[in-house]
Amino acid sequence: MMAGASVKVAVRVRPFNSREIGRNAKCVIQMQGNSTCISNPKQPKDGAKNFTFDYSYWSHTTTDDPSFASQRQVYKDIGEEMLLHAFEGYNVCIFAYGQTGAGKSYTMMGKQEPGQEGIIPQLCEELFQRTGENTDPDLTYSVEVSYMEIYCERVRDLLNPKSQGTLRVREHPILGPYVEDLSKLAVTGFTDIRDLMDAGNKARTVAATNMNETSSRSHAVFTIVFTQKRRDQMTSLDTEKVSKISLVDLAGSERADSSGAKGTRLKEGANINKSLTTLGKVISALAEMSSKKRKSDFIPYRDSVLTWLLKENLGGNSRTAMIAALSPADINYEETLSTLRYADRAK
Ligand code: ADP
Repeated sequence: MMAGASVKVAVRVRPFNSREIGRNAKCVIQMQGNSTCISNPKQPKDGAKNFTFDYSYWSHTTTDDPSFASQRQVYKDIGEEMLLHAFEGYNVCIFAYGQTGAGKSYTMMGKQEPGQEGIIPQLCEELFQRTGENTDPDLTYSVEVSYMEIYCERVRDLLNPKSQGTLRVREHPILGPYVEDLSKLAVTGFTDIRDLMDAGNKARTVAATNMNETSSRSHAVFTIVFTQKRRDQMTSLDTEKVSKISLVDLAGSERADSSGAKGTRLKEGANINKSLTTLGKVISALAEMSSKKRKSDFIPYRDSVLTWLLKENLGGNSRTAMIAALSPADINYEETLSTLRYADRAK
């Protein structure tokens, strides 16, 4: 990672869900400016812990609350900044981390209702809006997308659900790690992308656990390959700037033991934790390198498929943001605290 380029880290608390309301849960999160405080329900007096992030997003109360962070706000702060970096030619990556049900998909995808769209649809829309405004005849753009799922260290193509089995992860000598035979589809507008994503989302592996009715146990990686081609009038030669924009909805970070997992579920849990732990190590190693706190430049990308495939989006010529989704409820205290600690290490 380039000097001075650190990871942008945000946390976002959602409103109570019906289960929490049903259990008469208390709110353990407080936010002020960019700081987030969590109080320990067992030690309400002196068990509070404070964290500071680039952004602390509050949406636990109604939209009338002045500190309420809308989908638009979250996009403006994080999505737009990353999109602008992509136009500059950087690879960019946005992760959503957190316990199942904490608001990762809401933040990344959101809902197809006005004002409810998440970062991905807003970013795609702005990408096409900006490229559509181009009047320079020497500048042309192309956009290709892929959508894959990583489940138990195996990769599946979400844009080609008929592709049976898992795809091979290979390494190109110059371009780095890639997935063999992964569909890459050219798109010309946001509606194309939305249709593809809808189909892809239906294909995602979703399995029931004791924790929630449904729980996502896989990482979903949506990648936009954005190419800007410029023709030099004098020489008639083209120069290309290619940026990879990876938007990642991570698997639920809850520990396998807290959901009563056994057998396959336990194995899933171990694999998920392995990629999340490795991702955490990679991001904090990069953050330490950029702030020169770290001497060694060894980054353990190879320790999980997720970090290996995102190598070019994390290190080198790239910009990264992470949004950690939080439940406000006392009944999720342990998981929420561990999410805050994870986000804190990524700074
Ligand atoms: P995850 O992807 O982490 O499992 P979801 O994004 O599916 O969690 O969120 C669970 C539920 O909470 C969904 O019904 C979602 O609409 C709602 N939700 C999550 N975050 C927010 C938020 N910031 N504001 C309003 N509703 C939210």
